[in-house]
Amino acid sequence: MATANPEPNLSRCLLAGERFSFKNAVSENGTQCHLTLSANGSTLLPMRIPSQGWSKEEVFQKLEDARKADLAWRGGKAFAYVYDGGAEIEEVAKKAYASFLTENGLDPTSFPSLLRFENELVDMARTHLNGPEEVRGSFTSGGTESIILALKAARDLAREQRGITAPEVIVPVTAHAAFHKAGHYLGIKIRTTGVDAQSFRADVAEMAAAINDQTIMLVGSASGYAHGVIDPIAEIAALAAERGLLCHVDGCIGGFLLPYFERLGAKIAPFDFRVPGVTSMSMDFHKYALAPKGASVVLYRNDDLRRPQFYACASWAGYTMINPTIQSSKSGGPLAAAWAVLNYVGDSGYLEIARKLLEAKNALVAGIRKIPGLTVMGDPEMSLIAFTSETVPVFPIADAMKKRGFYIQPQLAYGPSRENLHLTIQPSNVPWVEELLRCLAESVEEAKAGRAAYEEAKATGALFAEQLAGPNAVAMLPGLVASLGVGGGGAMPSNMADINALLNALPRPIQEKLLVFFASMLFTPQREG
Ligand SMILES: *Cc1c(COP(=O)(O)O)cnc(C)c1O
Repeated sequence: MATANPEPNLSRCLLAGERFSFKNAVSENGTQCHLTLSANGSTLLPMRIPSQGWSKEEVFQKLEDARKADLAWRGGKAFAYVYDGGAEIEEVAKKAYASFLTENGLDPTSFPSLLRFENELVDMARTHLNGPEEVRGSFTSGGTESIILALKAARDLAREQRGITAPEVIVPVTAHAAFHKAGHYLGIKIRTTGVDAQSFRADVAEMAAAINDQTIMLVGSASGYAHGVIDPIAEIAALAAERGLLCHVDGCIGGFLLPYFERLGAKIAPFDFRVPGVTSMSMDFHKYALAPKGASVVLYRNDDLRRPQFYACASWAGYTMINPTIQSSKSGGPLAAAWAVLNYVGDSGYLEIARKLLEAKNALVAGIRKIPGLTVMGDPEMSLIAFTSETVPVFPIADAMKKRGFYIQPQLAYGPSRENLHLTIQPSNVPWVEELLRCLAESVEEAKAGRAAYEEAKATGALFAEQLAGPNAVAMLPGLVASLGVGGGGAMPSNMADINALLNALPRPIQEKLLVFFASMLFTPQREG
């Protein structure tokens, strides 16, 4: 257990000598503890490839040892990051993955098995999303890659057909960060527009007003990640069609599950290829299709829209190179595993899983609404719930839940969305619904009791935020990150509420810079013992 310098040095780097202390950072034994680090990621000596290889037993033992501090998802109390369909699905996924691990998707003519899996999976996605015969697509490594590719295809098409050199894509503020990342990578300006402050659905009038002669695409989510609500897709797509623009529907998280919810009688407005004007969609298999990570699909209404996604290079001395997606050499594992899982679970299997998820979602929404002080944000159609409070600080609730074995995700304030906590309900969570609600009510009381201390931390955060808005902000960041308790090699602070309060108070550009320093420190081997 490595313990960082217990003297927080925020004061030194920021407040010129004034002692910094988050008052509520008190451990169970009463000592100031927000700098307590877990040393699981630490690497004390410079690492070299071992001169003699280890035995298999040793390798596997070390792998198991390494995961001891990881998020304990197998218990079913993690409402984020994993989509756990249970032991049978896991077995099928692992066998299929391992069995195609070494096959290379680089050349589909050498591995027709992979070509077949991909064509079949893409067609299953097409029929699932009510796409006509002409719909074409690609299997990708994840939602982010699917979104990057949809924007890349749109950019290149607009350059060719309309001569657009400074392309812009309009996304609601609730759209996934992947659109901003795509814009950053591709040189596309991402123009954000507002959402209704109650429903968190895209304001289509604002999207219309944001269109200019460089606009190439409008985006809607079905559903968004943050609040689990579906944008008015029919209106967005109609607007796009009327103005001669492309329209992408981000179904990364909702695309697979929502059709089942619809079949189970939930009120889901059409969001897929049935909607005229929808020109492309993204849908992840590695979320609610329960496939292992590295599995998503991007679909286009026809081949003309898909072709600009592909990249061929004949300007080099090596093999013939044509890459439909971003990766070049790629393992057949994720593709074979996704193919295996979809065929193993089958439509009736997914429908049953969806039934339990829908019931769990409805029970959680109703249960959270009954806890005094908590508000469910919007009216989520998806099995994703964001809840907030105007009377209780929410980030300490997440820490209190963690003590009770539940992992729930803090979300910072952005636009009309105040800071909140997020539940991604996945199959293994279902038996925990009642217990979660019970613990949540307790955690709210606990957070209420710690309110004064938290407010102080927040005020300190706001003070730092002010300093960080100054000209020396970037120079201050490394010291700030260190003082928050982040050590090299993945050492993490134990009290996240204060850190989230601080992040929440920072101007967004500064927050992004801070996060980069934070990640840089995480991905640095720790040297000091
Ligand atoms: C998860 C998600 C993405 C990004 O997908 P990754 O697989 O994490 O790259 C995009 N959009 C939505 C709505 C998502 O939930």
